[in-house]
Amino acid sequence: MIERIKFLQNIALQLEPSSETRAALLEKIVRYADEFIENIYDIPAYVSTEDKGRGILDSPITENGAEIDSLIDLIQHNIDRPGLNPASGGHLGYIPGGGIYFSALGDYLAAIFNRYAGIYFAGPGAVRMEHMLLDWMSEIVGFPKTAGGNLTSGGSIANLIGIVAARDAQNLKAKDFDRSVIYLTAQVHHSVDKAIRIAGLKECILRYIPMDSNYRMDATLLERQIIADKKSGFNPFLIIASAGTTDTGSVDPLSAIAQISKQNNLWLHVDGAYGAFFVLCKDEKKILRGMEEADSLVMDPHKGLFLPYGSGAVLVRDKKKLFDSFRYQANYMQDALKAQDELSPADISPELTKHFRGLRLWLPLKLVGVAPFRAALEEKLLLARYFYDEIKKIEGFEVGPFPDLSVVTYRYVPKKGDAEKFNEMLVKEVQKDGRVFLSSTMLDGKFTLRFAVLSFRTHLDTTNLTIQILKEKIHLLQSH
Ligand SMILES: *Cc1c(COP(=O)(O)O)cnc(C)c1O
Repeated sequence: MIERIKFLQNIALQLEPSSETRAALLEKIVRYADEFIENIYDIPAYVSTEDKGRGILDSPITENGAEIDSLIDLIQHNIDRPGLNPASGGHLGYIPGGGIYFSALGDYLAAIFNRYAGIYFAGPGAVRMEHMLLDWMSEIVGFPKTAGGNLTSGGSIANLIGIVAARDAQNLKAKDFDRSVIYLTAQVHHSVDKAIRIAGLKECILRYIPMDSNYRMDATLLERQIIADKKSGFNPFLIIASAGTTDTGSVDPLSAIAQISKQNNLWLHVDGAYGAFFVLCKDEKKILRGMEEADSLVMDPHKGLFLPYGSGAVLVRDKKKLFDSFRYQANYMQDALKAQDELSPADISPELTKHFRGLRLWLPLKLVGVAPFRAALEEKLLLARYFYDEIKKIEGFEVGPFPDLSVVTYRYVPKKGDAEKFNEMLVKEVQKDGRVFLSSTMLDGKFTLRFAVLSFRTHLDTTNLTIQILKEKIHLLQSH
């Protein structure tokens, strides 16, 4: 047996590379990453390839390993080339991604040290770091000290956590579901609809409150609907508002909604996955006012703080509510809460073991401070307004409402022919070109183009380039 153990140990030791091997691997990985970053302003935002990364399948997982060079080639060719390049400043579709370098360094350390961020006892410092970051978020949005939250994998899970907390805090029982009412608009993100279903609430009544011409929830109609529902014997329990919708970047009238929510004892969940971090900009505090009165709030560092994907967050005004829904040990006494220095993330989230997400957020914030984030966010707002002004001046363009945040909606109306088809072809041409990536949506039944700015790499030159590309493609389509 000893012989066998030693034999196995020898093979298993390949999992522990020597210092020389580590240095050699790191050098190659860093060189590959550096090359990418050095060229990031010149490479396309979108690449359409025939194979669509299929080559990765031609290289199966095998008993023995391969050389790093061949693996980097595989990654480069199949992963980092085809499709959308979210690290590009030319990504102006959907809600653009980020990927700041400092976060990669944080992730590197998190992976090496593999600190356990799920349980305070195991990783006290790691847990404190996560909670410190959540406290900072609470502070910037104006939540009280009673608030707590989680660093999640993204906004979808954050929405789910908020909605589950609402369900439990409002003491909803299965027998009440089909007479309980959730208020929202048709512009809430699809992850909200999904979260409602995962939370078991699909039998609840969903009231889609009409919106004004800016795609914001009409608070007067919301209040009227709640009163009518109460009169009819329904059980209104939850309002879901948006602090920046994905489609148009619209911010619901949060102050008025919060007022209505309180008066009627509803839970107010605000989805700020895209927009909440704009609270860092002085001017936007006004439009986001009321966000601080939410019972739960979603904000995505992998959107508004330019982090790589895998970074969402949820804040709950009263963290005890989170604990009630997500506590890990059934025999855990609530009184013990107060005696503890820190709650464990496992007690206030669906996860137990998890990626130590704090470090990838803490390191950049500590290294460069908040100022560059604040500046980048304000820059995005101004770029959206600049684009709005410029595109409006060009004959043939129709613009949507003045942007609440950093999404502009617009369409081109050709002198003759079908505007729907034309815009469909226009967005396709821009995508085919690839220098920038734009996406489209349907607004009021019309095919509409979007200009969504949120990449830290999108600047004035990208914005001007987009306008130029749009002009080029319109010319091209009209000359056929
Ligand atoms: C992106 C987004 C979500 C979903 O977040 P993920 O991080 O993609 O899971 C939810 N709500 C809004 C408003 C969003 O923009």
